[in-house]
Order: sequence, then structure tokens, then C-alpha cells
Amino acid sequence: MSERKIPTKLLLEEKELPQYWYNMNAVLPEKHDPPLHPGTLQPCKLEDFEGVFCTELAKQELNVTDEYIPIPEKIKDFYKMIRPSPLIRAYCLEEALGTPAEIYYKFEGNNTSGSHKLNSAIAQAYYAKEQGLKALTTETGAGQWGTALSMACAFFGLDLTVYMVKCSAEQKPFRKTVMETYGAKVYKSPSETTEVGKRILQENPNTTGSLGCAVSEALEAAVKTPNCKYVLGSVLDHVILHQSIIGQETKFALEKYGIEPDLLVSCIGGGSNFGGFVAPFIKDKINGKAKYEIRAVEPKSCPSLTRGKYAYDFGDTGKMTPLLKMYTLGSGFVPSPNHAGGLRYHAMNPIVSKLYHDGYINCTSVEQTSVFEAAVKFAKTEGILPAPESSHSIKVVIDEALKCKKTGEKKKIVFCLTGTGYFDLNAYAQYNNKTMTDYIPTDEDLEKSFATIPDIPQNK
Ligand SMILES: *Cc1c(COP(=O)(O)O)cnc(C)c1O
Repeated sequence: MSERKIPTKLLLEEKELPQYWYNMNAVLPEKHDPPLHPGTLQPCKLEDFEGVFCTELAKQELNVTDEYIPIPEKIKDFYKMIRPSPLIRAYCLEEALGTPAEIYYKFEGNNTSGSHKLNSAIAQAYYAKEQGLKALTTETGAGQWGTALSMACAFFGLDLTVYMVKCSAEQKPFRKTVMETYGAKVYKSPSETTEVGKRILQENPNTTGSLGCAVSEALEAAVKTPNCKYVLGSVLDHVILHQSIIGQETKFALEKYGIEPDLLVSCIGGGSNFGGFVAPFIKDKINGKAKYEIRAVEPKSCPSLTRGKYAYDFGDTGKMTPLLKMYTLGSGFVPSPNHAGGLRYHAMNPIVSKLYHDGYINCTSVEQTSVFEAAVKFAKTEGILPAPESSHSIKVVIDEALKCKKTGEKKKIVFCLTGTGYFDLNAYAQYNNKTMTDYIPTDEDLEKSFATIPDIPQNK
């Protein structure tokens, strides 16, 4: 079908690696509302973030002026081992679909964490080390972030404690083994090791856990441990900043090979890979110069953009974080345990939320079984077993490519294949033996979790 004038792998050389991270906050025509201190309800100052976060990361979080932020040499050296990641033309998938569309994917799964998470983990561990810290704490949902940070902490010689959402820990016991192999301490969350964990367990002894709850535990542990800070793998603006390496490489490669995209697609959990993937494309979108559409994909079971409220909310169940203006289902939202993999967070990064609110990006929500159907189709044609998260994008990409088959349109579709699914075999087994179910929260379910959004003047 395709004439293959374009190579299968649209490679960049090491010297073409981006030298800067791209800061969308510097180019948004209207800034998103600032993070608020939960006590005073005043915009957060650097000191408010420094209590729990590394100073340099807190500075990046609040930086709304510098469009380009230089990547430190040591981080670039680490990136060189895993990057540039390949941009791949999915010729075999195109052929299987019989579509005239061109499909490209940026593959971020080629490291032990199996995802893009290492791009930010290595940066965050670096700044912690530079600041003279000895330890970090974090939460992990599906486990990729915990793994990535374990790798980064091992590299820089930092201690790490990970709170892993209970149901994921039970679905994926080997994730724990990988993290421990890299030297991390891993607890199932909620755990008995923190006050907030004990409280949540008392209130609801059978809870399967949630990311919001694991964040609370990791925050508490960081505050109580000397020379220790808390780090987060998604949701915050500085994480998206680090992930902009993905979008820049994608843009460089597309330009190098003369490809003008029509549609950019990626999945959203907390928004980090999506934000990073689209970052360098946003300016043209804002200026009205871009002819491409930008599309986020979320699960119907955790629909923060498509059904959430745009409001100030906490990032965690224990209500300890600064308040962020974002699309949220309420920090009390606990996704159904039948939902596999990541993309289970109750809210969405403030930049991604703002872009959606202002109409620069679209969002589609998809059901779990249809996602796995797409995943299997991709696995059979492209030689990679995709992560369930990434497969949300694959579902939308396949649907778009099939539309092109009807219309004859030669759309150029580019998506971010965020990771691999080797630790998600329980979910694949459920799909294969047809025990996988779909779950869509009812309006009443959502009303309950919306009730946990803080009742403050800014939300009126
Ligand atoms: C964490 C993760 C996601 C979702 O998180 P974002 O912060 O929204 O990018 C998607 N895919 C994979 C493979 C992940 O590990």
C-alpha cells in the first residue's frame, strides 16, 4: 500500500538532542490561575513549595517567563543513554487497517521503567542531589513512575520510599521487585506507616487505594524525614516542562523528514506526557498558524477533562497540597478497581486544563475493552506490546485512520506511544479470557466526588 519513501524509523542523531526544555507557561496568552496556599488562599510563593519540593523544581513550577530552560549537562548525559527516542512510521499497522492515513508514533517505552516517566525522574533526582538532599518520597499508581524514580535515585545515590496504590500493587507484584532491585522501599498505600494512611484505613478498611491517598502518605513521610523532599511524577507544571523533550524531538524529526502533521494524539493521566508531547506545537496553535488538531484521550472510567469541573482543588485525598486550578473529579474520587493501568488520577495538570478550557485542544474519552482491542491490533502488527495507557491513544488513532479509509483522506497522525505493557499482563489476561469489564461512573457517582472539591470563594 504505502510506497515507503519515508524511512520506518525517523531517527535523530545524538547531536540533535534538544538542549532546552520548553516552557509552555511562557507562551500561554492568558496564564492559568496560580496555585494557592490552602491556608491563606493567597497565590503560592516559592517558600510555600520549598517546604516539600526541591528548590530548583519549585522555581521551575513558578516560572512563567522563560520559554527555554537549559537542560543541565549531567541530565543531558543521562538522556543520551535512552534518547533521542525513535519516531516510527507504523507502516504495518497502516497496511493492516488498509488506510490511506499516515501513522507515526514516538516510542518512549525503551527503558526499564517502560515509559516516558524517566525523562522527569532523572531531572528531579538530579536537582535533589545538587541541593544536598539524602532521600526522596513519592507515590506510584501503575508503577512506572516509582520504577523510573527508583532508577534515577539509584543513579544519583539517593534513598527512596514509594507509596504504591494498593490495587495496582496487587495487580502488579513484580513492579515492586523492580523498584526494590534499584534499592527503593515500597509500601502499599494506604499503609500503616503514616498518620494519613492510618486515618484513611480506619474510615474505609477495604479501600483499594487511590493516587490521591498515596500522594498524602508520601507528603507526610517527606515532611517527617530529615533531608528529604517529596517529588511527583505528573500533574505539576515542572514535570510537563521536563517531558517537553518528547515534543521537541518529535518536532525536530518531523521537520527533518518534511512531514506536516494533521493530528497529534496522546493519552492523559495527570497530563505530563501529553503536555510534553504537544508543548512545542502549542505556540503555532495559539497564533492560529497551525493546521493540526491536538487531541487528548482519557478513560471513560476516570473522565477528568470531559466530565470534570474546572475549579481549584487539592492534588491529594488528605488535602495537604497547594490548591491548583484544574479540571477535577474531586480529590475524593476513587476510580473503580476494575480499571487497569494508569490514567486513574482525579484531576488534570493546570496547563493542560487551561488549554482545554480555552479551546486549543480537544479530548475524547474511551472505554477499557475497546482500548485493549486496539492494543492487541497494534501488538500484532507493530512488534511492541503497548501499555494500557498508551493504548488509549492507539484506540483513537485507529478510529481516525478508519475514518480516513472511508473518506480517502491522507491524514498524517502522530501519537505518543508512552510505554510498554509487560507488567500489565493481568489486564491482558482479563481481556483475552473475556472477563474484562467496562465501568463508567454515573452522574450520581460524580456528584459525590464533586462534593469533595473545596468550597472556597475562588470556586464560586
Ligand atoms: C504515567 C503514564 C501515563 C499517564 O501519565 P501522564 O502524566 O498523563 O503522562 C501514560 N502512559 C504511561 C506508559 C505511563 O507510565
